[in-house]
Amino acid sequence: MKTFKMVRGMRDFLPEEAEMLRLIEDKARRIAQLYGYKEIITPVVESYGLLAAKTGEEVRARMYAFKDLGGRKVALRPEFTASVARLVATTMRNEPKPLRLLCIGSLYRYDEPQKGRFREFWQSNFELIGSEKPEADAEIILLTNSLMKSVGLKNYAFKIGHIGVLRGILSREGLAEDAQNRALQLMDKKQYEDALSLVKDAGASEKCLTLLQKMVKVRGSNIFNVLNEMKKLVEKYKEAYEAVNNLAEILELISEVQKLDITLDAGFARGLEYYTGIIFEVYVPELDIALAGGGRYDRLVELFGGEPTPAVGVAHGIDRIMLALQEQKAPLKFQGEKTVMVIPVSEALNQEALRISEILRAEGIPVEVEVMGRKVAKALEDANRRGTPYVVIVGERELSEGAVTLRNMEKKEQRTVKIEELAKAIRTELH
Ligand code: AMP
Repeated sequence: MKTFKMVRGMRDFLPEEAEMLRLIEDKARRIAQLYGYKEIITPVVESYGLLAAKTGEEVRARMYAFKDLGGRKVALRPEFTASVARLVATTMRNEPKPLRLLCIGSLYRYDEPQKGRFREFWQSNFELIGSEKPEADAEIILLTNSLMKSVGLKNYAFKIGHIGVLRGILSREGLAEDAQNRALQLMDKKQYEDALSLVKDAGASEKCLTLLQKMVKVRGSNIFNVLNEMKKLVEKYKEAYEAVNNLAEILELISEVQKLDITLDAGFARGLEYYTGIIFEVYVPELDIALAGGGRYDRLVELFGGEPTPAVGVAHGIDRIMLALQEQKAPLKFQGEKTVMVIPVSEALNQEALRISEILRAEGIPVEVEVMGRKVAKALEDANRRGTPYVVIVGERELSEGAVTLRNMEKKEQRTVKIEELAKAIRTELH
């Protein structure tokens, strides 16, 4: 017989993992509530043109792109921001600002599968649209901190930079946007030598190359020292200088509110092309891949035909948060409701067992009913194996008096309970 294997890069989530994924989603939804974000659900399939417009070469080349049966060039979404920007440029264009939106779901990238890198992965994605103020950037970072804290992660740290600093320098040197994108993508991959030679070939001055060489080495966790160093370096580059000031404003706001572990990195770039301002990622010591990534993107909505609309957002990688929690031996534990098992003593009582199960469920008590036709002793063994705390045994004699047997599996005790009092009895015993 033919058996089927899973497609490379895809995963099954077995109950425990599925539960953990949903739990992190719940935490993200709770954070959304606490910060005033409303959930929207956008399609997995979008037009290729939309998704390819500004995602950057790295992601663009790895899209699951295909023609649908109607001949449309489409792709599975590799990220949420393009869909959100599409909505803000069209259907939601007249919504009052700020708009705070949450998306949760699966994304698809043909990445090389490895630890923490999958071809189908999950994100919670927060976007704050309509504000260019540093308070907005600060909010996105603070809510990311809240989420990381609320799932129980320890020792996580933010890596922060500002794409406006590097772009400010490169623009002054006359580099076209395309060349800038390619240089920044190389920097994102820490291929600084290649990035510098690209910038050189594109006509940048020696002075600029020396500056960039210095810039990519400026980093540290004493953020106000790093900011000063950056300011000194880019004194002659107006836009870059303003970018450093913007970064300083955001970090000052945050530092007054929360004590975060931050490394500021002047040479930090991110793969996505649409960023215009602050950029950041979250790391834990146990993994060398980012758990979350975000930043400001002030021109994307306009590029998609909307009004000029500043925006800032973040995507939290749920799979990687799960992995980090497992590495830290602090996986979220599901406080699952205890299930009751209902066992008829003979086949003739199957219907009664179903009826009693329905009565309990209507009272909000989770019930698993015996469906394997097993004898009571065998079914009890199974209940034991599953850690089921209570079993309801439906027998002829008790039933004739409108009652059943309620068994406490741990104490190995049982008593007769009237059916109309059963739900109450179980509830009192369970608590
Ligand atoms: P990006 O959209 O590339 O900024 O990614 C945002 C976050 O999504 C990352 O920090 C990761 O946590 C997660 N992520 C991106 N690509 C993958 C992948 N192939 N597998 C698992 N998680 C991913």
